[in-house]
Amino acid sequence: MPEPSFFSSAPVITREEILAARSPRTLHDPWQPQSFFLEEERSREGSVDSVATVFLTNRECPYTCLMCDLWKNTTTFQVPSGAIVAQIRHALAHLPPATHIKLYNSGNFFDTKAVPPEDLPQIASLLSSLKTVIVENHPALCSTGCVDFQKRLGTTQLEVALGLETIHPDVLPRLGKGMTLDDFSGAVEFLHRHNIRTRAFILLRPPFLSEEEGREWAIRSIDYAFSLGVDCCTIIATRGGNGIMELLSEKGWYSPPRLDSLEWVLEQSVPHHSGRVFADTWGLDRISTCPDCLSRRTQRMHRTNCTQSIQPRETCHCQQDAIDIAAIQS
Ligand code: SF4
Ligand SMILES: [Zn+2]
Repeated sequence: MPEPSFFSSAPVITREEILAARSPRTLHDPWQPQSFFLEEERSREGSVDSVATVFLTNRECPYTCLMCDLWKNTTTFQVPSGAIVAQIRHALAHLPPATHIKLYNSGNFFDTKAVPPEDLPQIASLLSSLKTVIVENHPALCSTGCVDFQKRLGTTQLEVALGLETIHPDVLPRLGKGMTLDDFSGAVEFLHRHNIRTRAFILLRPPFLSEEEGREWAIRSIDYAFSLGVDCCTIIATRGGNGIMELLSEKGWYSPPRLDSLEWVLEQSVPHHSGRVFADTWGLDRISTCPDCLSRRTQRMHRTNCTQSIQPRETCHCQQDAIDIAAIQS
């Protein structure tokens, strides 16, 4: 646990400071998704299924969290009616058939300024042949809109991915997410009561934590999410790149987590939970220090994600860090 004095001197960054640190925004076509691809993911039943993952273009999320760089993929204006439907149609037409779909909109699917509510009936009918529709959403926006969309989906299961980020009592408020743990648990309880499934995003080493604290609080946060009954947790290495994280880094308040910490948290969590635990393997070149093993270690984590069993570690000349972790475990 950090000393209280540490957090009494840790800055509380304002929305204005976050916005001022940003680089210029790229303009995006509201009729085109940011990207789409097919990925493999372990299902709750234990099969490895194909998932169509579509990154939608829409208006920026209003929350402006400290660590968030997703605004880069968004517009400053509300996209026209029909644009989200067109983006999904475009992605589905260019992808092989999939069992599930993730519609990630760099924000909140049930933010009426992001995804126009009048598009929801058409979106639901486009997705009716899929088994699961996974969307991301802020706990404060989990209300009747989610329930109505689940009704429209019929037998297709809605799953809402919620950013828990961390349960650290001094870090969570400093992320500016506008969310307490009670808000998170209330949203999960509401969704479950309406037969909507949930998953949680967990940050590994958010700002203000040491490497060791980053690992410890990721594990604690995963435990907390599963105690609420979420279906799965995805561990995300906290990344820089949004401007303010670079300023925090210069002042010593943020360092990216090590790749072996991500491996370790995955290894520690997978055997201890009946729900699935995934490591987010996207963009790990940003935290890797060794080009010789990055690809093999990423593939190993992907195999662990898919099998939910710990795979043998990859060996490499660089892996001094793994010895540190072995010492911590003993
Ligand atoms: S709620 Fe999510 S999308 Fe919105 S700013 Fe925070 S991290 Fe980014
Ligand atoms: Zn290496």
